[in-house]
Amino acid sequence: MRMKTRFNCKSLKDLILYLFRYPFRQDGSVSNSKPRIYARSEHPISRANISQNALKVLYRLHEAGYQAFLVGGGVRDLLLGREPKDFDVATDASPDEVRELFRNCRLIGRRFRLAHVHFGREIIEVATFRAPHEDEDEADNGTAAVTADDGRILRDNVYGTLDQDAWRRDFTVNALYYNIADFSVVDFVGGMKDLERGRLRVIGDPDVRFREDPVRMLRAVRFAAKLGFRIDPEVEAAMHELSDLLAEISPARLFDEVLKLFHGGSAVQTFEMLRHYGLFAHLFPLTEEALAHEEQGFPITFVMNALANTDARINEDKPVTPAFLYAALLWEPLRHEAEAIMAEDDMPEIPAMQQAAHNIMSLQQRATSIPKRFSLPMREIWTLQPRFRYKSGKRALRLAAHPRFRAAYDFLCLRSRSGELPPEDCRWWTEFQETDASGQQQLMTSGGAAGREGGKPKRRRRRRRPPKKAPSGD
Ligand code: ATP
Ligand code: MG
Repeated sequence: MRMKTRFNCKSLKDLILYLFRYPFRQDGSVSNSKPRIYARSEHPISRANISQNALKVLYRLHEAGYQAFLVGGGVRDLLLGREPKDFDVATDASPDEVRELFRNCRLIGRRFRLAHVHFGREIIEVATFRAPHEDEDEADNGTAAVTADDGRILRDNVYGTLDQDAWRRDFTVNALYYNIADFSVVDFVGGMKDLERGRLRVIGDPDVRFREDPVRMLRAVRFAAKLGFRIDPEVEAAMHELSDLLAEISPARLFDEVLKLFHGGSAVQTFEMLRHYGLFAHLFPLTEEALAHEEQGFPITFVMNALANTDARINEDKPVTPAFLYAALLWEPLRHEAEAIMAEDDMPEIPAMQQAAHNIMSLQQRATSIPKRFSLPMREIWTLQPRFRYKSGKRALRLAAHPRFRAAYDFLCLRSRSGELPPEDCRWWTEFQETDASGQQQLMTSGGAAGREGGKPKRRRRRRRPPKKAPSGD
């Protein structure tokens, strides 16, 4: 069978390199398809650590005569002695066959068709084994893979065997299969050795695999930061070279990835790595520009403190919201924009901030979308900030009663802690919340006399203003 090339062979050299480095043979089978099998006694995975629902899915598939494996992050994390975030299952049953077995099953995805088996809030994702991409002609019937001219996979629904599936996964440590039939771990790609060595290696040629799906570069950072793994030098080189390919990914998919990147409990490390590989600029171009031109230390300190705070909350199982994360990451561009509007249009501070919020969100949405349910609270967190200066009378009480007060107060304290505002600003509002009504009266009397109260913000030297006006989506 003819196989479609996954990238444009611009020269004979490219073609030769491609044939040598990519693991698939021309007939679609895999060149090194004999797996290393680790028997139950050779690995630490115990069923006691696998979710009951995932086990139910695995057993039911198995009893119905299908192959059923736990795969991906579940196996990787169990082998590392970590608690998996979720459990993914791979099987030779087609999505329709999976649906027939589970009443509580929904088929999702077009680019990548999957079965979701629902158990209350837990979802077990069941994927049918993927095969290498087929002939372009077959793509027309809607079942085969579809690849863009630049090598990007647009649709990926060709079903195959276990060994084919293994080579289609992103990193070796993500391609380990726990077999429910005999409790062994099946390893086609040397993932077990990489896990032991703490090495993140792409399966196949990183250049080809990143062109197929540039989001894999973000995944590399996510896993390296979360697991404390070293990214293979060959993979690093491809990331430095190909980071611009992220421009082709839809803003909606990038928004989802941003949440996985920054709400995974290792946001500080992730942020530093994303910047190191030139990936952050594609997710938050305005922030990258503001940080690259910063003159005082607090903007970067502010972002780092916000991310450290997010990590701490996640590690304490406290809730986090994308609105706060985005508000923090875009704070510096927002401040520049508001200052520019105040200076150029001579607008008062609060309307200038509202206008700036609109401009910044419109520009950001070209990179990553911001769903409305988050853009509204973000705007409130920002536009409440100037109101914290008013510490007397009804204005303070009204602010404290605002539904977004708590998030805005946390934001204010981050600014204080990062050196943008004096520490007293946060302290005053902390005391205000902790004291009773008469204590509040006292504070308001003394707070009303405080030096900065009601004063206009200190004007800072104007910076370069982000490009004006973009189509609004928020
Ligand atoms: P997490 O702990 O975040 O869930 P994970 O490795 O399980 O990590 P998922 O996004 O849940 O990541 O994906 C499950 C598995 O599917 C991955 O481990 C990998 O084998 C495969 N996979 C996911 N996304 C891709 C991709 N873009 N390209 C290739 N394989 C992928
Ligand atoms: Mg997973």
